[in-house]
Amino acid sequence: MDPKAHRRAAILTTCTLIVASLACRSSGSPEPVDDARLVAADRDSANWLTYGRTYSEQRFSPLRQINDSTVPQLGLVWSHELPTTRGVEATPIVLDGVIYTTSTWSVVYAYDAINGRQLWTYDPVVDRSRARTICCDAVNRGLALYGSKLYLATLDGRLVAIDARTGRPVWDVKTIDQSQPYAITDAPRIAKGRVLVGNAGAEFGVRGYVSAYDAETGTLAWRVFTVPGNPAAGFESKALEAASKTWHGEYWKAGGGGTAWDGIVYDPDLDLVFFGTGNGTAWYRDLRSPGGGDNLYLASILAVHAQTGEYAWHYQVTPGDNWDFDATQPLVLADLALDGQPRKVIMQASKNGFFYVLDRATGKLLSATPFVDGITWASRIDSVTGRPVESPSAYAGMKAVLVSPDPEGAHNWQPMAFDAAAGVMYLGARHNTLRVHAPNALWVNDVSNRNMGDDPRYEGELDTRAAAAPAPRGELVAWSVANRRANWRVALPVSQSGGVLATAGNLVFQGRGDGLFTAYRATDGVALWSFDAGTGIMAAPVTYLARGAQYVTLMVGWGGTQGLVNPPNMGPVKPGFGRILTLAIGGTTKLAPTPYGHPAPPVPAIKLDTTPAAVREGEFLYRTYCRFCHGRNVVAGPVPDLRYATADVHKQFESIVLGGARKTLGMPSFDDKLNSAQVRAIQAYVLSRAAAPVPRPR
Ligand code: CA
Repeated sequence: MDPKAHRRAAILTTCTLIVASLACRSSGSPEPVDDARLVAADRDSANWLTYGRTYSEQRFSPLRQINDSTVPQLGLVWSHELPTTRGVEATPIVLDGVIYTTSTWSVVYAYDAINGRQLWTYDPVVDRSRARTICCDAVNRGLALYGSKLYLATLDGRLVAIDARTGRPVWDVKTIDQSQPYAITDAPRIAKGRVLVGNAGAEFGVRGYVSAYDAETGTLAWRVFTVPGNPAAGFESKALEAASKTWHGEYWKAGGGGTAWDGIVYDPDLDLVFFGTGNGTAWYRDLRSPGGGDNLYLASILAVHAQTGEYAWHYQVTPGDNWDFDATQPLVLADLALDGQPRKVIMQASKNGFFYVLDRATGKLLSATPFVDGITWASRIDSVTGRPVESPSAYAGMKAVLVSPDPEGAHNWQPMAFDAAAGVMYLGARHNTLRVHAPNALWVNDVSNRNMGDDPRYEGELDTRAAAAPAPRGELVAWSVANRRANWRVALPVSQSGGVLATAGNLVFQGRGDGLFTAYRATDGVALWSFDAGTGIMAAPVTYLARGAQYVTLMVGWGGTQGLVNPPNMGPVKPGFGRILTLAIGGTTKLAPTPYGHPAPPVPAIKLDTTPAAVREGEFLYRTYCRFCHGRNVVAGPVPDLRYATADVHKQFESIVLGGARKTLGMPSFDDKLNSAQVRAIQAYVLSRAAAPVPRPR
């Protein structure tokens, strides 16, 4: 028997055993989830064992009890309200009828899938005062499962192993230097007894890396940096030495960036780990690396050997990124026939608007095709060089430019789903999203605040052009990978939508910002069923069996970067309390969402003695320090909308902003940045917004 056939036979035997053990087992301790079981996860349709269901992260379930005929009978079985109005992004893990999931501030919950009973909860007690150095809300995208333990990466940079049965922590290690502005929002992944974890923070100024920990002990096995450090300290690898030749100036002082904050996948056949890296610090190439260069390995897809972390290959999606085009979006593995050739591919629908298909053994570009309209930063990706043909309008040195896609991207962290038999990827896409990029000539590296290098005082003709452009559009897209075009597109009422699940029941599930959770017929995109979840949806649903019946579970909650964008630019988005929903055929439970929001337009709660100049200054300060949580133009969903601040809040304004009176709620002090007069100017601006109509954001 050749080695491959032998391996296939071994997998088949393992699967047979798994099926037998599942059939025989009653309730009680779950069987430990070992390597063989993870490799065979695709056949284990009863469970959802990893973030993306399988190592390939295709998020395609073979279950078909809920299908294009029965889905009209799909209804709510149970739900729970979560004590948060912030973003909820997690994909639950489901094992033997138990759901393991996370919410904001990295809090973990376990529920009985059938009756919704909460089995345990675990709060890692993340320091809320770190809220100043998290990019995009206190979100968490979920857990990993291995053996009998769950693995949680916390917002404050720890990796915690949790006993899946009891919810008690087993070990807890710091994966970051907590004095630096790192954060973690991604779900850890498993690779042969190791736990893989990335981090975030390139908007503030850190040096990105991925770490692998021993799943049993929490010992660091390897760590691979994504960008070179200070050459004087020596390079950790030849790959980083080579990368340093693509940088200029004292790039290491701001950390460089390149954080791997979302897409990480493991291929057990090639024994490679793949991950996407983010933007640089600063965003702008002339600030970050004066003299230019590709700045490897920013905005790249990297492959490393799973045992050692040693470099295997890289493909830079956006060389010399200047527009926050992180290449961290979900990575999906598949074995496909392309142009008559069998290929092991890795796929990404990138922030930058192109759908990339690479040979995952070598990193060679096989195709890169626009999946949205209105891309202005590049005209195409050259198939010979693998490099983008950058548009002249996309870069003007230190001058501002107007570019699409915007930093939210044509597609972001929201998971996509791949039907391998049909060769179709289903994903939420955003079109025509122009943004003014204005580098700040006065930028100095400052890791205690946003460090993108944007000029908060820039106002010019490009703002007018951006405001006059068509509003962004959101779509659910069925993308034929081999044909490099959409089979169908469904227009959505919001420009951003949630993660996707596809099933063998000819269904594609997706939620969206107005709270509707919809099942579409996979073959033609016709909506067959919808459920109002009461709050906007970003997370991806999962499906599994419990006592032989198929269930769908979905985390609900609007926030993240999406919570920062004004509703007028988003469509009818619905912020509100987070919740978990579980649905099945014949479910008849009625949802009673906790009310949230403001029924009437705001009115200023107090009158402040001020001047137009102070209001103007307050606006610039607000843009620099406040808008990332409280929203552009002071329009917020997930955190308090300051236009509605009461007279009592205004009385305490300085003690909140400088005194840290609400730091345990996630509103840290800014006393190292602002003085009393500046806080008063911000207050004056906030009050002016309470009295004004909402403008289109730039
Ligand atoms: Ca970014």
